[in-house]
Amino acid sequence: MGQIRLMDEPLSNKIAAGEVVERPASVVKELVENAIDAGSTSIDVFLEEAGLQTIHVTDNGSGMDEEDAVLSFSRHATSKISNEHDLFRIRTLGFRGEALASIASVSKVSLWTSDGVTSGTHIEIEGGYIKKQTAGALRKGTDIKISQLFYNTPARLKYMKTIQTELGHIIDLLNRLALCYPSVAFKLTHGEQTLLQTNGRGDLQQVIAAIYGISIAKKMIAFEGESADYKIYGYASLPEITRASKNYLTLFVNGRWVKHYTVQQSIVNAYHTFLPIDRYPLVILQIEGDPFLTDVNVHPSKQQIRLSKEKELMQLVEETIRKTIRSIMRAPEIVEKTKKVSTPSEQMDLWKSTPPPVKSSYVKEVPSLPTFNKEVDFNVVKETHETHAMPNLEDEDIESLNTASNEPFPELDIVGQIHGTYIIGQSADGFYLIDQHAAQERIKYEFFREKVGDVHSEERQSLLIPLSFHYSADEALKVKEHQLVLEEIGIFLEEFGPTTFIVREHPVWFPKGFEEEVVKELIEQVLNDRRPDIKKLREEAAIMMSCKRSIKANHFLTKEDMSMLIKDLKNTEHPFTCPHGRPVIIHFTTYEVEKMFKRVM
Ligand code: ADP
Ligand code: MG
Repeated sequence: MGQIRLMDEPLSNKIAAGEVVERPASVVKELVENAIDAGSTSIDVFLEEAGLQTIHVTDNGSGMDEEDAVLSFSRHATSKISNEHDLFRIRTLGFRGEALASIASVSKVSLWTSDGVTSGTHIEIEGGYIKKQTAGALRKGTDIKISQLFYNTPARLKYMKTIQTELGHIIDLLNRLALCYPSVAFKLTHGEQTLLQTNGRGDLQQVIAAIYGISIAKKMIAFEGESADYKIYGYASLPEITRASKNYLTLFVNGRWVKHYTVQQSIVNAYHTFLPIDRYPLVILQIEGDPFLTDVNVHPSKQQIRLSKEKELMQLVEETIRKTIRSIMRAPEIVEKTKKVSTPSEQMDLWKSTPPPVKSSYVKEVPSLPTFNKEVDFNVVKETHETHAMPNLEDEDIESLNTASNEPFPELDIVGQIHGTYIIGQSADGFYLIDQHAAQERIKYEFFREKVGDVHSEERQSLLIPLSFHYSADEALKVKEHQLVLEEIGIFLEEFGPTTFIVREHPVWFPKGFEEEVVKELIEQVLNDRRPDIKKLREEAAIMMSCKRSIKANHFLTKEDMSMLIKDLKNTEHPFTCPHGRPVIIHFTTYEVEKMFKRVM
């Protein structure tokens, strides 16, 4: 008896801090979100030792009066919700009222705040206990400094990674917050170094330029769309910019940076066949919907979110982005990169704090024939490290951003073929190289995609000798389970004993000579996929069939063959990339060629 005691508040806060305050970046997140909630238009974050020594956030928001300033450090103290009803209508980033209490319990805090009306307040807290409270200055806004984070929780401190890692998390976080709030001027400084600075003018593309560089920002296209319940908008990269990870897909739901696998997947789907396998675009996606549909009270960090009407949203995202990308598809142009004195606008591209990836040299300075051996500027835009400095953007530069337009397939006059692999064509604006294999893959892919989508009306071809396929018992069960899905793509299986299936006929358009291979591979797809869905399977079937029948490299084509191929290519919906996302055609503009020969400067 008498063993149970209520914990004192600082102790229970310290325990709660385990969830909210994982690392310096979590403290920065809570403080900056508070500043945003307070309506700030300018937020400065100053760090020392990646925040482990100092995190100092200054804002020009509403500030607090003395009473609120003291109360803000109590657990469950919040000005943001007052009843259960509010919990489903959250418009602010905070609402749990526990961040400041948790942070104060594991650090030393100095707070200066003023609502601009009553006199300001200055409070000092150590390990959760108020040590000092005096009057402060009357500047409207809040200035909060966290020192010696985790000084009283050595076990937590031990878990911290290197300064670079912790700093990386903070930069990433601030970048995303800046992308979400273009109307707030953010500044992030680490010691002497400015890592991010945005101007708060409300232009998302300028923020993209500040974070990823101007050359990337120029290749981002605005999109917007609406469904019954959701509104979306943002920027999506041209297919010529790719990244190796999904880390460059930034999602916001009602002003909150979230991670949401299925929505992310719908972005990836939007780029299907426009990007090479395992490469991802760069997308900033803002989603707005009734807070009632978006439950953020899933985890203390509020990064996970539960969405209602998810299917509707996924469709909206996929269709809106795909439509946008489609409208600007064009042949990548070859651009000469020389070390000549750059013009001011070109210097913009070079402001990055990390050097751009080294490219091979192009025109060699030798007295013999100049060799053309430079790289083409399409998917070679490789990973550059996130850049942290702020270019000085002039309004003109901003206007010149994003002028990519919808380009039709060029009118080509065929010149010939080289290495049995590439077709050369010319037009008024230069010449073009076409990868014949990639071109045919695109043509066949669109052919099969249409066929695979329409099996019912098609005639069937009977096989002289039926094909048979054997599986293990569990595989056979799965095949049976998805027999209808397989029929939708033209595979008609008949059970023949418990673990064997036979195929007696197939649609007439099946790639000749590859029937067995195709059926086998598609069944395998179904077996390997946890939840095979018909749309995806159709795509995969079309891609696979298109590869089977394409003319390979090193294959001589007559002029007629070439004309036919180009004509068919021109008639496809997306002639510029193969179904794997590789380019089909590259443009050498007259101007660039003349520049290479030094005919023009
Ligand atoms: P929450 O944000 O979930 O309400 P916090 O512990 O982060 O909880 O903050 C507690 C309260 O302190 C907030 O509800 C807000 O009223 C006040 N507050 C915190 N930071 C600021 C700030 N920078 N400017 C104005 N008020 C603030
Ligand atoms: Mg908060």
